[in-house]
Amino acid sequence: MKSIFGKGLFILVFICFSTTYLSAWSAGVKRNNSIDGKVICIDPGHGGTAATDSYRVGPSGEREEWVNLRVALLLGEMLEGAGAKVVLTRTTDTFIPLAERSKIALENKADIFISIHHNATADPKVNFPIIYFHGSAEENQASVTLGKEVAEKLVGQLFKGKGPYSLVSDFTIFSQSGSSVLRGTYGIPGIIGEASFFTSPKEEKKLKQSEYNQKEAQAYFEAIASFFASSEIAPIAEKKDPSEVDPFKVFQEAERMRPEAKAWKANFLKGKKLLKKGGDQRLVEAFELLTLSARSFPDSYVAKACHELRVEILKRQNKVDAVKIEEMRIRYFYP
Ligand SMILES: [Zn+2]
Repeated sequence: MKSIFGKGLFILVFICFSTTYLSAWSAGVKRNNSIDGKVICIDPGHGGTAATDSYRVGPSGEREEWVNLRVALLLGEMLEGAGAKVVLTRTTDTFIPLAERSKIALENKADIFISIHHNATADPKVNFPIIYFHGSAEENQASVTLGKEVAEKLVGQLFKGKGPYSLVSDFTIFSQSGSSVLRGTYGIPGIIGEASFFTSPKEEKKLKQSEYNQKEAQAYFEAIASFFASSEIAPIAEKKDPSEVDPFKVFQEAERMRPEAKAWKANFLKGKKLLKKGGDQRLVEAFELLTLSARSFPDSYVAKACHELRVEILKRQNKVDAVKIEEMRIRYFYP
């Protein structure tokens, strides 16, 4: 009797233990330690503008706002599965004002803010990820860290682990105040991710496929998990007066579709070559070409090099004050 009871108890304990253990184990598979419990605000860029916006559309008619939404919804599902509280600024193809998007992130006390976009330019061959953080890299290191994770994972998932990316301040394109959603959510680690260019016909074709959208969502998921798993997230400092760095006038969105914008890389290479040859007149021409490249594509993967070479020229010309400002620009906006 005693021994039968003992055996029964053993079986009962075993069943209880294995049920608890297995359910914990299966939850552990889905849940992600670093993401579990985090509030993540995902902002699918644009929306509801098919009738009014003819700029954000690919060569065969796929609209940026549709791709942004598909990726955001897939990412939201993955994050929720991992235990996060996901807040989306929109879940349908509707127009949401920019200020409203920041408000949603702030009101929900988001731990991070991810704005999902895709890019456009005049040159159909251009295709690489661009990630923006707000303000100065020195003050907003947490967002730079998040941005680096996102950039590297996007290159891994969408570009076979090869190729360049840009990680730049939003002041490189909006030199007075940066972008609205990142300005409005400043203090929360946040980025705008432009995973690829829908103006590339090849890329547009891929962006239409949900398996490809899934890969992009996977890249963000991995980047977010890795960001939260890192030992320390740097505190975000109060913003300094951005006017200490002279605004660098750049082509704005639609201007970047202009034909001279297509020469951004050629101008960079030509400028670099002239600088190497040397001579006062060549330095002046090199400076002009490098400046034009940086103006027409201020967030390209050669823009940082353009500014660095401009500094080199200014040094040779003994323009001490200009050197100071340009070096600051690189440190703050091109980490
Ligand atoms: Zn966009």
